[in-house]
Amino acid sequence: MTMSEWRAQRNRQALARLTKALPENFPGPALVHALNRPFTPPMPRLAVDSYWRAHPIRADRLARSMAARSGAPDGWTWRLHSSHADGLASSFRSPPAPYREPQFSRGPGYCCVCGQPVYRLGWHLDLWDKGANRNAGWHTACVIAWRLWNAPSDHAALLRRLQGRRCAETGRRLWKTAEVDHRVPLFRVWQEHRNTDWPALLAYWGVPNLQMINREAHAAKCADEAGYRGRRRVEAHVSGGGPALRQSRPPGGTSLGE
Ligand SMILES: [Zn+2]
Repeated sequence: MTMSEWRAQRNRQALARLTKALPENFPGPALVHALNRPFTPPMPRLAVDSYWRAHPIRADRLARSMAARSGAPDGWTWRLHSSHADGLASSFRSPPAPYREPQFSRGPGYCCVCGQPVYRLGWHLDLWDKGANRNAGWHTACVIAWRLWNAPSDHAALLRRLQGRRCAETGRRLWKTAEVDHRVPLFRVWQEHRNTDWPALLAYWGVPNLQMINREAHAAKCADEAGYRGRRRVEAHVSGGGPALRQSRPPGGTSLGE
């Protein structure tokens, strides 16, 4: 059996399984996508996964627009974790996700990324009129968006295509070694934009803030950013941060605790 015969046979079997398991009102775009795969996904759930994996930009946009429908929960602000039990992220590199925090979770059937109800197959619309699926805690689209936000370098090929293979800093051709970069670096998001409303904040992790730049341009940008952070630290000292307080203690004065 040749490779193509083997594949055709495998796809016939997969299509038979998929057709049998397909619920009524299966999302049209996901079905079209499934039938155009080199390997037909044999289950509806896999067809939906495959659809969103192939469309991370759409998933990013959808996750943010659903989050906009939820808005931030009352009393929530973006904070980093102070103990292991608080459910907060430990770094400003992680996108803020209020509905993942135990205190603000909306419970079973709601997505922990965007806060909206999750329906059958992890879909974001109730095509079946059955209400939220209480076994689900993520939209399939939001899983893909979450991965993009946390590991954008996995999407380098896509970002390259979006930019017509030109370096976003220099406009020159992108080299193989080009790297994914946040236009507004995440440390600045934390320092300067942390009071931006959620979920507008999420755009800093999404495609709107991602770019591919050549390695040398990236190194230069990082050096600039390091200089900027250094200046910020000096300013913080001058304006009376922790270390400045220690320096202002009178010479020969008592140490803490005496
Ligand atoms: Zn969601």
